[in-house]
Amino acid sequence: MENLEKLLGTLQEQSFTFNYGDREARIDLDTLLSDYDDGTSFIDYISDFYYVQSVYQKLKNSEGADPVEFFKEFSNSNKSYYKLLSFIKFYYSELESCLQSLNDNGIELEEYCLFAIFEFSLDLYFDNVDKEVSLSRYFYFLEETSNPLHKFIFLVNILEILIWDKLDSPLYYESFDELFEHLSYLLYALTEEVQKLLRRRLSNDKLYLISAPIHDWFGKITRNKSFSIVLNNLTKTQDEKLNCYAVAYGNDFYYYAINHMDGEDRKKLHDTFNSFLENIPAARLTDQVRYFLPNEIDYITYEEFQSLPDKPDGNFNRMFTCCERKIFAKLRTDKPADKYVNIIVTQAPCEYCSRELRYIKNNKTLTIDINYPELSNINSYDSLARKIFDSCPRHMGGTDI
Ligand SMILES: [Zn+2]
Repeated sequence: MENLEKLLGTLQEQSFTFNYGDREARIDLDTLLSDYDDGTSFIDYISDFYYVQSVYQKLKNSEGADPVEFFKEFSNSNKSYYKLLSFIKFYYSELESCLQSLNDNGIELEEYCLFAIFEFSLDLYFDNVDKEVSLSRYFYFLEETSNPLHKFIFLVNILEILIWDKLDSPLYYESFDELFEHLSYLLYALTEEVQKLLRRRLSNDKLYLISAPIHDWFGKITRNKSFSIVLNNLTKTQDEKLNCYAVAYGNDFYYYAINHMDGEDRKKLHDTFNSFLENIPAARLTDQVRYFLPNEIDYITYEEFQSLPDKPDGNFNRMFTCCERKIFAKLRTDKPADKYVNIIVTQAPCEYCSRELRYIKNNKTLTIDINYPELSNINSYDSLARKIFDSCPRHMGGTDI
């Protein structure tokens, strides 16, 4: 099946350009589809990067502003951007695994596939098809089947819907060779569409995320409820949200950090962020990173953990791989003159980072102002509780009931 192999080659050749300001990075398909051993994916890091950097940039341009307000401002945009990334990742990886399985297992493509694709195209040709409804339907079918031939038909149909508003003529393929050639062409067209969406920004400022009110086809698709539900079911979400990306800054320093070991599997991420941020140092996993015991006074370092003779493997490395604690270690080494540290992340610090945060607070070595989206709720609940508390007779000398 020479043309099937060629089509797989075309698929693997697809790449996407991500921009940050005037800088850009080209990400190949393999990298974009990467899932890591800790349950995170390449797209989680990319999406956290844009969310955090958008808030950081806006703060830089508006002195004294509250970061939490900017998190709120970018929240919808961040969600729709993540949806776009999940959608891209889902479609390309499904297509790749389906074509691979047809190729590797020597599954014979049967004539009815060509006919099924022709039949579907009649709907699209006569324009009695609602794009969003059809897409949800095909995504649903895709979820329901494990038969690679059926998957193939649904994936071709989805691709046709994504590319065409209306067909010039029904799609009749004489042979699979002809169909594969046509699919190669469609794939380039899809990547081009996707690329346009990736370039969209909330404002003229090129640093901000894609726009919240998307009026184009993708916006319409993602606003479709049943499609959203199917897409959410299909795209894997992390069980436990991690902080994939963080920045820390003060008057005389500015770092970024990513979650995990900073090893070979995350190299492409560091390369990308390095080229976007130009010379902004990364706070990486070093021997000085600490893990605090529950008393929040005693700690061990990564170096001590590493020198353990029969060190357990597996999940234990996560004891040291959080963005925040890599930043604390770098601050201890660099000793910046400014002791006021701002940190921007997308999730509340985890239990282990919170221990060190309280240790730093108690020892008054630094003042750390850490901001994340959830603070918006916490702040408004706290101020409401304060108002109620202050006006409640129970706290003004009244008697308890
Ligand atoms: Zn943590």
